Amino acid sequence: MATTLRKVADGVHVGPLFPRSLFNTVVLEGPRGDVVVDAGLPWSGRRLARFLRGRDVVEHVVTHAHGDHVGSTAWLCNHTGAPLAMSEIEADDFETGGSIAYHADAGGRYLIAPLGLRRRRVDRRLRAGDTVAGFEVVAQPGHSPGLLAFWRAADRTLVVGDGPVNVSTDPTSPRWFHLPKKLHHDPDAAVASRWRLTELQPELIVSTHGYPVRGLDHWTEGIRTVAH
Ligand SMILES: [Zn+2]
Repeated sequence: MATTLRKVADGVHVGPLFPRSLFNTVVLEGPRGDVVVDAGLPWSGRRLARFLRGRDVVEHVVTHAHGDHVGSTAWLCNHTGAPLAMSEIEADDFETGGSIAYHADAGGRYLIAPLGLRRRRVDRRLRAGDTVAGFEVVAQPGHSPGLLAFWRAADRTLVVGDGPVNVSTDPTSPRWFHLPKKLHHDPDAAVASRWRLTELQPELIVSTHGYPVRGLDHWTEGIRTVAH
């Protein structure tokens, strides 16, 4: 069981949560300290604690408020003392305890949304163009209404919380995990947003689901062939 973060790019580290091939946290080393992207399912606390031991966490950022990304968010902020940042579109629902069931069908609404039961205050409401640990915030609506990605043009690294999920440990030879497209809030918009991200021409795509993908051609093939 991996208990340490794995460096995948300059200042970018992936921490496998459980199940390890599918859920991750991503740590970005920014100029002010470390930013933790997504906190996984509600039972991620012990792993997150191990990954973050000795680190100076200055902010917890979530890509979107689906239950499998914010399940341990309240815990993480309590544990580290870090403030929370998320999309301005989803922050009110999360903060007030409202519904975060941003899924097109009942499966997501009844199985995934309840994983995000524990809530807390949102300290920074993010929008496109903001900066997170030296990455530019990019809006990617569709999978959820306020989904965000994080883009660093200097080395063409893109951090996402939604995209085709690669289950191969070889980033240049991805294998795709297929999920029902109705887990998206708006399936057509989700795919359109993914295509828009390809226009940035990322070289390395790091996701909080699955393993990283290297090479835009590989990622594009996933977008073309995987509905979710
Ligand atoms: Zn999601």
